[in-house]
Amino acid sequence: MTAELVERLTSVTGYPSPIGVVLDAMRHSDADESSVMEFAETIGGDPALSSALLRFANTRSLGSTSSVPTVRECVTRIGPRAARVVVLSHVLIAADANAAGAAVALGPLWRRGLARAIIARRLAQHLDPRRAGDAFQSAALVDLSIVALWTHDSAACLRLLESDDRAAAEHAVFGMSAAAMSAEMLHRWRVPKRVWAPIRGLSDAAVAPGGNGAGESARVEAIVEAAEAITASIISAGPGSASGGALITGLSIDAGLLRTLIAAAAEEFSHRSGLLECSPDDAGRLAAEARAKAQQTLAELSLATQLENRVMLRRQQELMRRVTTDSLTQIKNRLAFDERLSEEFERCQRSGKPLALFLVDLDHFKRFNDEHGHQAGDLMLRTAAAALAHAARRFDMVARYGGEEFVVIAPDCGPAGAAAVAERLRLSVEESSVDWHQQTFRCTASIGGAVLTPGSSQPTPSELVAAADRLLYEAKRAGRNRALVEVFGDRDVRVSDERPEAGRAEIARS
Ligand code: GH3
Ligand code: MG
Ligand code: MG
Repeated sequence: MTAELVERLTSVTGYPSPIGVVLDAMRHSDADESSVMEFAETIGGDPALSSALLRFANTRSLGSTSSVPTVRECVTRIGPRAARVVVLSHVLIAADANAAGAAVALGPLWRRGLARAIIARRLAQHLDPRRAGDAFQSAALVDLSIVALWTHDSAACLRLLESDDRAAAEHAVFGMSAAAMSAEMLHRWRVPKRVWAPIRGLSDAAVAPGGNGAGESARVEAIVEAAEAITASIISAGPGSASGGALITGLSIDAGLLRTLIAAAAEEFSHRSGLLECSPDDAGRLAAEARAKAQQTLAELSLATQLENRVMLRRQQELMRRVTTDSLTQIKNRLAFDERLSEEFERCQRSGKPLALFLVDLDHFKRFNDEHGHQAGDLMLRTAAAALAHAARRFDMVARYGGEEFVVIAPDCGPAGAAAVAERLRLSVEESSVDWHQQTFRCTASIGGAVLTPGSSQPTPSELVAAADRLLYEAKRAGRNRALVEVFGDRDVRVSDERPEAGRAEIARS
């Protein structure tokens, strides 16, 4: 029976929140980023809203394995926008739970919870400052199970709240203390142990304050326990008139200091508890308004996110294009070539289809450059690049390898195809021309190619480039304006023993 109840209380969403807190959280979430901390502060004292955020941040891994113990850290971790979405969704889902009845029934519980959290933080600031956030968070979440019970069965929740023997009533409903049930729920949401361990044994007579717990959590446990003991005096006392008589065992804190702490906590509480005050009529009306506003804001947010994603995607694509494009010739650059070559290499190995690679070097380019200037040279480079791109097939890649050297990757291109492609590339450069100062210039290119065929004794990509480079050098030596292609692996390929004529692509012996 208990296991089933734990399951229900843990899986249901939309626990009721004080409407004042909801409105304040929505107001802060509308504001700019400077109010992130105020946003977290408002939410932190409310068990429903804070558990919604803790649950979200801890049940999704969000690219991190570490757990998130406080609302403040949740907001930092998931970012203000995601936090905002969680809060707005909570408002929508919780709209019914937030009906007027909850404001009346849970009002005292909310007040106690906030007072407990505030004093816990003040105590921790003196005793163990690093744990002040944890102490606040744990103390605020003590009554989570009761808030959840309201959503699940409000009549049973009312009976519990009105019972004379609260501890017995809690055991009757939960089979354990309400605090232990809250701890169990948080545990199931994978909220870190340091949040739920300090409240697990609370109001369980067997555990003395600061008693048998071990290590770090024992200290926060003692603080939360002490905070629970002092809570009533903070709610009843006005600022500055708090009773310092509360007896706290297990904490070494001097009576005078305790009085000061309680007074400060009472003042903070009276300052913040305004958010918890609301007449049932107002609560119903405000909840309906909050719901409508949340709906609209969520729709706007989702639209804005979609638009931003699209803009970001476009920016990313443009950036990627720039990074992989040669700025002078506007064809792909060396980086793009290196990436594509290793991709095509893998594909060639997997698919068993051949792959051809060509290195293209313009002939006597230095001479042209020296005679007509760098700008004319640049124009010639752009023209040659365009000529190569024009001659290549749609799925080939033409890239600038550096200087006046280009490279062409031709997937699925075997020995015969490679000879044809090489010749087309050569011819295209030869036929292109540049007009410069009322004169027309042409240039030629020498080409070295290497073909990888299925079953070949797989060279590495750099061996393939080296082979093409070797053939390019041979083409230069043989008189330029020609293409030589080497085939890896396939013994049946017919090769020519003769030096090819200028202007013709030939397949050389592997
Ligand atoms: P070969 O036929 O043996 O290839 O002779 P080449 O003159 O083309 O060879 P070399 O490698 O000696 O000369 C390449 C020249 O390319 C040298 C350099 O001035 C020129 N160059 C390299 N990058 C650019 C560039 O971006 N713009 C211009 N205008 N010239 C460039
Ligand atoms: Mg060169
Ligand atoms: Mg050259």
